[in-house]
Amino acid sequence: MHHKLWRRRITDNVLCDWLLVFLAALGAVGWESGAGWLPAEEPPRPEPSPRFAIALHGGAGQAPDRLSRDERAAYRTSLSAALRRGRDWLAAGKSSVEVVEHVVRLLEDDPRFNAGKGAVFNSVGSCELDASIMDGRDLSGGAVAGVTRVKNPISLARLVMQRTRHVLLAGDGADQFAIRMGVDRVDPSYFATPRAQRRFERIRRERERRNNDNRGGQPPDGRRSAAPDDGAFHGERYLGTVGCVALDQQGNLAAATSTGGLSNKQYGRIGDSPILGAGTYAANATCAVSCTGIGEQFIRHAIAYSISARMRLLGEDVQTAVRQAIHDTLQPGDGGVIAVDHRGHIAIDFSTPGMARGWADADGTWEIRLGGAAEKAKQPRD
Ligand code: ASP
Repeated sequence: MHHKLWRRRITDNVLCDWLLVFLAALGAVGWESGAGWLPAEEPPRPEPSPRFAIALHGGAGQAPDRLSRDERAAYRTSLSAALRRGRDWLAAGKSSVEVVEHVVRLLEDDPRFNAGKGAVFNSVGSCELDASIMDGRDLSGGAVAGVTRVKNPISLARLVMQRTRHVLLAGDGADQFAIRMGVDRVDPSYFATPRAQRRFERIRRERERRNNDNRGGQPPDGRRSAAPDDGAFHGERYLGTVGCVALDQQGNLAAATSTGGLSNKQYGRIGDSPILGAGTYAANATCAVSCTGIGEQFIRHAIAYSISARMRLLGEDVQTAVRQAIHDTLQPGDGGVIAVDHRGHIAIDFSTPGMARGWADADGTWEIRLGGAAEKAKQPRD
């Protein structure tokens, strides 16, 4: 009796084991009626949304609390409109080159910024505009400097990139190229705003009060400079240059920058904004960069290129490379940088009291800021 029970237990255990093996096999493969045995399907994974990222700036300079509440709101509205357009275009699959040109065009048309309409005056009371654009796919780039009649210098810069074998056209030659290309041209008075006029007058009065020697260059027609030029910009802390960097869904990077330069700059002076490697740079292998600040400093240190080079040669991430450029290479107060790397990480840093900036990406990140500390922008999923 005891013996029989023992044998039944063994049989039960063996049957149990076989049943478990059978059930496990059922779990490992799926049965679909009529189709026979099929390998088990993996649980459906959420489709990753296509990656893209964008950052823009509207200049580095004075602290936003020096602006009125209404002015701050107006800056935010302008930056938001441009950022929204850029983000929507990237989401729709447009190329980064198209997007950065378009965003910068919007800001050029906005008189609040020192680019296109609203550009600051040089030392003889006229506007000379600089802009550049770079395509990270093949390092092609285009730039214009000292143009006086082109409504949207950034679009002319793109034409230099795409329709000539050159990188930088300046002055009259650039204006003539604009005529050949049929881009919108305007009377120089189009750029002048009462705000730029007031700023110019204020600087002139300050200069006269200080009774400085005029060491600036004179234009060829003998007009007198309103004021000495060296260091003329140091009193003006809201600089207002505009720029945009973007990573598109195809993984291509692009950067664009446009400016009227520094207030009361010497006639004929060209800053960093139209210099690839100084104010603008893009390479798919590393990052896209747009700078704003005291252009001479950004040219001396090839800031935009140095950020890319640090990433490539030292293996730094974009955040570290940008921080080094702003806080180690440049002097406090020199300006700021926006950058995005080939994986969509955004880095923004500045050493001025404020910087008008915004950024967005495919994960729903959306920020607009004027002041505060330079933030660590949200890093997208890896
Ligand atoms: N970097 C520009 C220039 O030096 C000025 C600016 O960014 O505000 O022309």
